[in-house]
Amino acid sequence: NRLISSSMKAEDNETEISLRPKSLSDYLGQEKVKEQLEIFIEAAKSRNEPLDHVLLYGPPGLGKTTLAGIIANEMGVNLRITSGPAIERAGDLAAILTNLEENDVLFIDEIHRINRSVEEVLYPAMEDYCIDIIIGKGPSARSIRLDLPKFTLIGATTRAGMLTNPLRDRFGVICKLDYYTVDELAQISMRSANLLEAEINLNGATEIARRSRGTPRIANRLLKRVRDYAQVKADGNITDEVANNALELLGVDSLGLDDVDEKLLLTIIHKFGGGPVGLDTLAASIGEDRNTIEDVYEPYLLQLGFINRGPRGRIAMPRAYEHLNIEYPKK
Ligand code: ADP
Repeated sequence: NRLISSSMKAEDNETEISLRPKSLSDYLGQEKVKEQLEIFIEAAKSRNEPLDHVLLYGPPGLGKTTLAGIIANEMGVNLRITSGPAIERAGDLAAILTNLEENDVLFIDEIHRINRSVEEVLYPAMEDYCIDIIIGKGPSARSIRLDLPKFTLIGATTRAGMLTNPLRDRFGVICKLDYYTVDELAQISMRSANLLEAEINLNGATEIARRSRGTPRIANRLLKRVRDYAQVKADGNITDEVANNALELLGVDSLGLDDVDEKLLLTIIHKFGGGPVGLDTLAASIGEDRNTIEDVYEPYLLQLGFINRGPRGRIAMPRAYEHLNIEYPKK
């Protein structure tokens, strides 16, 4: 139940729809990705063809789903959303594919979790826009080939490394989303505040941005909490002081770390002498799931230079000691 978790939570939903940018010009940051996509979209549109298949990868909450919506919007086609774990059998995928319209965008979130038999249906679908289905059983079974409408597959994953090579090779465009800068997140907070009709100044937005772990989803969530605080405890205006007080009260520190991050760092430092400590051991000691640590906590701590991943495990870096006010041991 962390406030600063980057994965989707129920509370994100209600306003999610209205805060999501609908066009590339509203999508702030990720300049390189946007520039590329702008060109590909324009070219595909002028040839009246679907966009090449796109793989988006990067930590949760950075705007992969949003980008898929924008691509569909800019191409003027429908967006169909599903996820790797939701497609259980090859037949499920076949049903989705045969229901697409010409040039539609199919978004598959967590595509690295798709199972093998489903993945094999994707290959010919992506390459030749067709699927082979088997009719009947035993000796009388035969396979027939069904043509599909041309479509664009947009796959999203937090771990590009977990995709099989044949699947990765079938994406024409591969884009990596990076953590956002404080300035970009401040702009995103200003934009969201505007949509929520909350009063905010740039200093207030920057304060929220600084603690958002490079992630727009977290910025939007913090913004909503700070807005509540401003309404009740101040005159509704989100200034840096108001944002600061609100976030302190919510237990989010100056870099957006909360007690779980702190526990993780302190465990490496105190229990394991600064590391290296293996991921499984670390996960067991703080009572968290190994995948959650890898997907959610670690990327940001790595980005801050607080931890390092060595061959023998995780190591706490001098910056982490400094942030926690612990003296770095002389070795
Ligand atoms: P992902 O699919 O990568 O987990 P989402 O696309 O669901 O992330 O984005 C999470 C939220 O962050 C969205 O609701 C959207 O409002 C906001 N967001 C993401 N990227 C941007 C951006 N570049 N500009 C403005 N808001 C963004």
